[in-house]
Amino acid sequence: MVDPVHDFSRRRFITYGSCFGTFYGVAKLIRLPDLAEAVAIDSRVSQAPIVDKGFGSVRKVGDGLYATISDPSKGFTTLSNGGFLVGKDAVLLIEGFASAPGASFQMEALRMVSQAPVKAALDTHYHYDHSCGNAFYGAQGIPLWAHASVAGRIAENYSPMQANGQAATLAPHEKRVADAKSDILRQHAQGDLAAYTGLFKTVEASVLALPNHSIDPAKLPMTIDLGGLSAILEFHPGHSATDIIVRVPQQNVVYTGDLLFSGWYPVSIDQKATISGWRDTLKKFAAYDKDTIFVPGHGQICGQEGIASIREVFDDIAAQAEKMHQAGVPVQEAIDRYIVPDKFQNFPIYCWGFTIGPTITKLYEEWQHK
Ligand SMILES: [Zn+2]
Repeated sequence: MVDPVHDFSRRRFITYGSCFGTFYGVAKLIRLPDLAEAVAIDSRVSQAPIVDKGFGSVRKVGDGLYATISDPSKGFTTLSNGGFLVGKDAVLLIEGFASAPGASFQMEALRMVSQAPVKAALDTHYHYDHSCGNAFYGAQGIPLWAHASVAGRIAENYSPMQANGQAATLAPHEKRVADAKSDILRQHAQGDLAAYTGLFKTVEASVLALPNHSIDPAKLPMTIDLGGLSAILEFHPGHSATDIIVRVPQQNVVYTGDLLFSGWYPVSIDQKATISGWRDTLKKFAAYDKDTIFVPGHGQICGQEGIASIREVFDDIAAQAEKMHQAGVPVQEAIDRYIVPDKFQNFPIYCWGFTIGPTITKLYEEWQHK
């Protein structure tokens, strides 16, 4: 296990902001929409954030409940969403974000509203944009919680990038751009390369710090009492096989991690992502109370309409892919032939190869095994 306290390097904070040239090209297109009317008029959601630094803002979404929402068009300090739960006796922080300054930003916001001791910080799953700032929590002596597989998967996915360096990590993706046989293939390959470059730069700039309190999914759901505020941790399949959500049933508020991309095409590239599992999970979310507030892993805070729209995106990808599958179209061709319908034109696509590509590939695999 990495000891984050001793590996913590301030210098890396400073280099962090300077190396995002290519990724910026993708992220500046991902503008954060305003709060939708459905939640803007919900009296639980504060109109004004308690702090707004552009790249991220924090607002109240319930009694003792706060959401940290990232706007990647304005910087990558946090990149993912998160939040915190403030009870009378203790606090639960959610997400390690994409950098230690991102985790520090959320901690500062917390201290604007409460001095209660922090019981734990939870990574909702292992992905870099939710865990690369973990070292901040280590340096603060805050216990870091995550699904039991998170530590291993951070180490196995991100340590090799740091060891191998940029050229070796990005070479296969650069080759795809060079080898592209059509404009559309080149466009997709270039988008993927930009996304992998952003991922690499984030990981390179980070001191990887692993959770020191692993949560056995077999022991979930688990209730956490923060003093007058109870939260339930639950495991659900779909996005990464390490996804833990935080539910506050008394207030109908759910922190979903990346099991919900709100108004985005869902990122399904993880080798352990399962489309049928994810769609089942979303069906469960849709059955939660009609007044549920969802704090997604990416995108704006939403109500049930956000769950409905990500389900429609999956339905649309599945419907287009199924027609092509039945017509005998090979999977790679099906991926490149997918058409974004008008109603999802405003949904950011992180890149084709993180979203539509793997969703269609996994659907094809699921149909083959039927
Ligand atoms: Zn993720």
